[in-house]
Amino acid sequence: MPGLTPGRRWQAAYRPFKNTSPTEKLEAGIERALKGAIWGCRMCGNCLLQETAFICPMECPKGLRNGPCGGSTPEHCYVDPTRPCIWYRIYARAEKMGRLDRLMEVLPPLDWDKTGTSAFADLRANLKTHGGLSAVWRWATARPEERRRKWEAFFREVRQPAWWSGDDLPHPAPPHEPVSSLERVLASGGFAITVEISPPLTADPADVVKKVQMLKDYVDAVNFTDNPSATPRMSSLACSLIALQNGVEPVLQVAARDRTRMGLQGEVLGATALGIRNILCLTGDHPRTGPPPNGRMDIWDLDAIQMLWIIRQMRDEGRFLDCREIKCAPQAFLGAAGSPNSSTPLIQAIREEKKVNAGAQFLQTNLVFDYDRFVDYLEALERREVTARTALLVGISPIRSVKAAHYMNAIPGVRVPEAYIKRMEASADPKEESVQMTLELIDKVKRLPGVRGLHFMSVTWESIVPRLITESGLGKNGES
Ligand code: SF4
Repeated sequence: MPGLTPGRRWQAAYRPFKNTSPTEKLEAGIERALKGAIWGCRMCGNCLLQETAFICPMECPKGLRNGPCGGSTPEHCYVDPTRPCIWYRIYARAEKMGRLDRLMEVLPPLDWDKTGTSAFADLRANLKTHGGLSAVWRWATARPEERRRKWEAFFREVRQPAWWSGDDLPHPAPPHEPVSSLERVLASGGFAITVEISPPLTADPADVVKKVQMLKDYVDAVNFTDNPSATPRMSSLACSLIALQNGVEPVLQVAARDRTRMGLQGEVLGATALGIRNILCLTGDHPRTGPPPNGRMDIWDLDAIQMLWIIRQMRDEGRFLDCREIKCAPQAFLGAAGSPNSSTPLIQAIREEKKVNAGAQFLQTNLVFDYDRFVDYLEALERREVTARTALLVGISPIRSVKAAHYMNAIPGVRVPEAYIKRMEASADPKEESVQMTLELIDKVKRLPGVRGLHFMSVTWESIVPRLITESGLGKNGES
């Protein structure tokens, strides 16, 4: 059991894909023994401990390196309820140590060639470029302020390779004409309406066509989920194209779970070439939430923040992750998920701010049923000026039955308050009662400053959306 980390190791240490010399093996062995015992180090070979309050983030079953997922709770990791959410522990310790600001830096994905090897080797190599022992002497004899600056710069050079160069600064899109009508509505100050459709479990496009035709006159864009609940469905890309062909603007959802850095970049080029402009980057549900048999669960190449960073660089700097030039850069309006119900409002606000800094231009939240909790979250976002820098669309849905309400309450990142369920239970028509509560919620939420639109997530009950929009006095293209 490591001394200073909350749980024992989750995964076997990564093994390098190459033979290493006896010296490198010895170095790795020493590092594994020391850092493993003290900080729970997993030998990822791309050390971030100084940025993560000295807790190894590789204990996260999703391998997230930039903060918690939308299912995190103060109690436990949603993938494995027998363990704490390691990211929740990192934030809690960082807050105690006064190091919360360190969590804002956008950290790179793993260089897999280094996993299982010693991170000391990188430090040694960097020290050599600075002049070796004479650099140590200069550092040791410098004034305290200068010493601190040099220390920070030295480790930053190691953890932020030139192909990434992540930081904690905002990276807004340069001035441009809107690339999609959703962006146009939001850029002109309109109130946007989007709706989520779960792609069919068949190869028949009829259901997608029927739903987009039904919603066409009511919404600004339609999201297509990407293998939600880790269950294979028709791809979001195919559904997005079907929507485009039927005159409805799509939002392509891309889950990091099913992508490698190579696959992501290829998909972005392909999607934008097809005319798909809105791209929502998600980390994705863990495979354990889907049906077995599970594939390998320990390889998440990217997280949502890293995906935003990569796509934004492709768009604004016209370059691939490996720094090659892209002659015709993709045009995209980038979005990310907001999680009003996960961990704490402060933690989620920090995470959402990091997404916006990385490139998110709009946020679509998970389902909101608890108005007071949502207001706390919104205030936390406002305090960090997130709502001033991005368009927030609130996730809304009625619930069909009391049984479904209980089921939804158990979904990571969703909370249905007891009062909501009780009101459904007391009603002769729980379904209609939920519709009425949804209309009441819309009426309150749409007036909140900082709310720029609604995102309907009435999965498999999309037919209710036109009624909700009509009865709420909302309309397409920013009308209300
Ligand atoms: S709740 Fe999410 S972020 Fe936290 S450890 Fe589990 S998978 Fe990772």
